[in-house]
Amino acid sequence: MSPEPAAALRALPSVDQLVRRLADRAELAKVSRGRLTALVRETLDAERQRVLAERAAPADAEALAARVVARVAHAGLFSLRPLINATGVVLHTNLGRALLSRQARERLEAVASAYSNLELDLATKERGSRYGHVEALLRRLTGAEAALVVNNNAAAVLLALETLAHGKEVVVSRGELIEIGGEFRIPDIMLRSGAVLREVGTTNRTHLRDYAEAIGASTGLLLKVHTSNYRVVGFTADVASRELVALGRERGVPVMEDLGSGSLLDLRPYGFPYEPTVPETVAAGVDLVSFSGDKLLGGPQAGIVVGRREVVARLEKNPWNRALRIDKFTIAGLEATLAAYEAGTALRTVPTLAMLTEPLAAVRGRARSVLRRLGADARARLAARVAEDRAQVGGGALPTVELPTAGLVAGASPGAARRLDALLRGGDPPVVARLVDDRLFLDCRTVLAGQVADLARRLAAAASEL
Ligand SMILES: *Cc1c(COP(=O)(O)O)cnc(C)c1O
Repeated sequence: MSPEPAAALRALPSVDQLVRRLADRAELAKVSRGRLTALVRETLDAERQRVLAERAAPADAEALAARVVARVAHAGLFSLRPLINATGVVLHTNLGRALLSRQARERLEAVASAYSNLELDLATKERGSRYGHVEALLRRLTGAEAALVVNNNAAAVLLALETLAHGKEVVVSRGELIEIGGEFRIPDIMLRSGAVLREVGTTNRTHLRDYAEAIGASTGLLLKVHTSNYRVVGFTADVASRELVALGRERGVPVMEDLGSGSLLDLRPYGFPYEPTVPETVAAGVDLVSFSGDKLLGGPQAGIVVGRREVVARLEKNPWNRALRIDKFTIAGLEATLAAYEAGTALRTVPTLAMLTEPLAAVRGRARSVLRRLGADARARLAARVAEDRAQVGGGALPTVELPTAGLVAGASPGAARRLDALLRGGDPPVVARLVDDRLFLDCRTVLAGQVADLARRLAAAASEL
């Protein structure tokens, strides 16, 4: 007979009782009282729900205490934790996008552990500009007259629209009214900036005359948006940056281009399709070019704006800029990342570029190495083998590219694959993989060399629990 639910729930210990029972456990020595109380509450809530759902008898206090200890072991001491990205998506927004180079991480550590000249000109002892630490580098790398960095590219677009087109019209092609994940939609950003959207052309074709006809006394800006996360293919036409610039000059209207990913390098030699680079767009004469710091550039989260001196200066003076400003860690990470481009070492040292251009054979080598470390027993239980597949670049970059990649296929049945997926996401470090065709695919393109042993250990442990 199942017990009466209310009576069963009364048999559970209280939060206080359980916290006291756990107070002296060595495994919990580093866990604060507040966090312990929260974990105890979560454990009791889960048990209450189980008792009600299953009409089961509640676990005793000792078993519940063990579950709290397991929860700590599982979740680690912190909420935000490193994990193993086995999705193959190099720029995964939910997994933190770009990893930083060793040098960038060292610069972060350096400015985190000592005071810095963030806004101090050491030569004159006068107040300096925080942007000064990266502006000259950005100018040299892009060919632009001036540069500014804000919180992210969404902020850069918002700041530019608010500065140049508040209360005015912004002319944009219908084919470029994009939505990026996370509520970034061009029409919404436009509305928030106080600018008025003036759509021209059609979804698949927009011509120079469409822009020309839309320009009037209230036009504040011609905006071109790189359709970074999708492509319109077939019968299409858009207007080249250079043509739009000529039109803007003739009619006295500034031109902005939101490049999205904003690569500094031409990646065609590595098998990627043509993408306009930042230097090319600047060279086309565009007044303002914006792009993300943590997409193809491979730096910290940031929105970089480069362009004509007078225009960038207007953005810099806008009070909104103060609200969107970057901190010293962004500057430190960005300076080191940009320095790698200038030194010509970026393809090797910037993890995003290194991962994107790593030859398939090397990725396959890592997959084999994980498989070898598993041992015969775990391999059999997991039905694990090395396989090849294709992966997305992610981060709304290079949407048509399917990178050849290699990894492990695991899970003898769809049910086993799903259980394995859940087991791997729990535990430390968590492993996030892809369910493909009812099997779990652990893509090794995004598994770091230093994570191979951990991945094998987690897989072996999960195999024993399957
Ligand atoms: C990604 C993207 C953005 C938003 O950039 P964040 O740095 O994520 O804020 C804006 N525009 C385009 C075209 C993008 O691809």
